Amino acid sequence: MYDFEVERAAGEVTSRGAKRVFVQAPDGLKQFLAEFVSRLSQFCEVYISINPCYGGCDLEDDRAAMIGADMVIHIGHKKFIEGAEKIHTIYLPAPHLVDVKDLASLAASELKKRGFRRVGVLANVQHIEYVGEFASALEAAGLVPVVDRQTGGLVLGCRTGGAKRIEGEVDAFLFIGGGEFHPLGVAMDVEKEVFVADPYRNELRGTAEIMKKTLSRRWWAIMEAAKTKRFGVIVVTKPGQLSVRSAEKIAAELRAAGKEVHLLVGDDVGPERLASLPFIESFIVTGCPRIATDSQQDPNRPVLNEAEAWKMIEIIKQAKK
Ligand code: SF4
Repeated sequence: MYDFEVERAAGEVTSRGAKRVFVQAPDGLKQFLAEFVSRLSQFCEVYISINPCYGGCDLEDDRAAMIGADMVIHIGHKKFIEGAEKIHTIYLPAPHLVDVKDLASLAASELKKRGFRRVGVLANVQHIEYVGEFASALEAAGLVPVVDRQTGGLVLGCRTGGAKRIEGEVDAFLFIGGGEFHPLGVAMDVEKEVFVADPYRNELRGTAEIMKKTLSRRWWAIMEAAKTKRFGVIVVTKPGQLSVRSAEKIAAELRAAGKEVHLLVGDDVGPERLASLPFIESFIVTGCPRIATDSQQDPNRPVLNEAEAWKMIEIIKQAKK
């Protein structure tokens, strides 16, 4: 179902003479790793990290070093930051092996029926290889596919430049992949409608409804947070998310506006962690922007991301004038 490039991985392990290898993968892919790990185990000891892995930002090099790993195999993502790894790391994006022919035709005919002409084609890392096939199906239906040259249409939960750069040239976007995480990230950053061609369900769906709900929830969180007095500003210690500077800048602005600020640090920002700090009324996460927008948090204590925090600070300042 996914291509883990086992021969490439085995080649890297043997050519480096690695004796101990640390494997990181998102929870959704771990269930498919048995065969991959058995093959690598012919050459080395393989450790599978049981921690979640949300992106290329989420490197566990320190943990890998603790067990004396010679190399890390990071599955399901591409490199996120140049030079961030402390241990030799290879990235295996794990493309989803699926026949998308019928789905591509369905998407093209549905978008045509809805009156769109120019369509921006996007995908997550598991489906980026299918951008060309969807573009051809759109063309065959008489539509004009548009693909960002810089990214080839690739979007991450926090990197939607591949959509923003072509927004002015298209009537709508077509995202190839499953779930709501990536298309919602795009929909929050652009003004055009985003449709999802989902190869797991073999269906085309819109995002307008979920987008409306998300935006109203986010505005509610911003406005509620603005009313509170005691803030926790969180520095996330995952290598690709760490930003002490941003946290301290936000803290300084809030203190200048008369708010009480506690600086917090950690890499798990789940509701159970935040529940241990009941004296804080609102949280600001300076790591992954999607922690605030997508995770289930205590509904009585708003959690904002950095961009939302700056909007809130503006609102507080305006209210004081
Ligand atoms: S910062 Fe968040 S959205 Fe961006 S790659 Fe990491 S986990 Fe994904």
